[in-house]
Amino acid sequence: MMNLSKSEIIDILKDDGQNDRVFKLADEIRKKYVGDEVHLRGLIEFSNICKNNCKYCGLQSKNKTIERYRILPDDIISLAEKAVELGYKTIVLQSGEDEFYTREVMCNIIKRIKEFDVALTLSIGEKSTDDYKAYKDAGADRYLIRIETTDRNLYKKMHPNMDFDNRLRCLKDLRELGYEVGTGCLVGLPEQTISSLADDILFFEKINADMVGIGPFISHPQTPLKDVPNGSFTLALKVMALTRILLKNINIPATTAMETINPNGRIIALQSGANVVMPNVTSSEYRAKYEIYPDKICINDSPTKCRGCIEGKIKSIGRTVSKDYGFRK
Ligand code: SAH
Repeated sequence: MMNLSKSEIIDILKDDGQNDRVFKLADEIRKKYVGDEVHLRGLIEFSNICKNNCKYCGLQSKNKTIERYRILPDDIISLAEKAVELGYKTIVLQSGEDEFYTREVMCNIIKRIKEFDVALTLSIGEKSTDDYKAYKDAGADRYLIRIETTDRNLYKKMHPNMDFDNRLRCLKDLRELGYEVGTGCLVGLPEQTISSLADDILFFEKINADMVGIGPFISHPQTPLKDVPNGSFTLALKVMALTRILLKNINIPATTAMETINPNGRIIALQSGANVVMPNVTSSEYRAKYEIYPDKICINDSPTKCRGCIEGKIKSIGRTVSKDYGFRK
């Protein structure tokens, strides 16, 4: 079952009787193609200010109840430096779409972080081709931008004033500029079908994504989706496992959203195809405020504590923490 057709993917997604077999196969493929090492990425959530209004996201600009923050460049650099001292070999900079960080400001941050011996990933949303080129020239290695859903109609409903084709343009630009490209989807959006999840998986294959992050939708009380139930952990896990089965040697994170709806979610994900974890290295004062969804894990913990905690969990399942940069094999 290595070259799965859309109808085979749909059958697997619909039939929970095959789950154990699918998770086991994904785990075997993970072991064969990327090994037992788990790559840790230190995640800095540097601004929760956003001009967009993604219906599911707690950071949407229409949410007037959250306290907004912006970490200034010097402080971002020192958080990155501390993460490198803790042993992280990749730093991920994530934020809402905050225009305070102009091309010049971002390039300066990128250059300074790249002076540490570290790989750098950006996850700051839709930018112009020239912006992406400038970040790359400044030293950025990778870029994460989830397609969220490949169902155009659903995409339109979930992202007022945004354009699916522009999201595709971003992914294409990033690829052409030589980034390692990460994408992914949400599982459990309202009106999302199993058939469209199968399309999402085939999309990851079609664009030959280097990294794919998959997480369940988690309902946020201050959004229009407040009454929509959370996505299913098992279904999100299956979408992830099928992605491993198809894309074999890519990097797949055990996402924080997985752990938010299942107390052992990241470990289960690591045993069902994932090989990456992205612990939070943002300082405690800001963590709770980066509330893309409620009940985020570790919001009261420090970067040092998270590092030790996740390393212990990884070792407890017979895996090791990688000491290299963790580019796609
Ligand atoms: N502004 C950046 C980063 C977005 S936050 C960008 O547009 O790429 C990173 C990811 O969090 C999003 O891509 C989305 O898939 C996920 N996310 C946002 N709200 C969520 C929610 N309510 N439940 C689960 N995941 C969510």
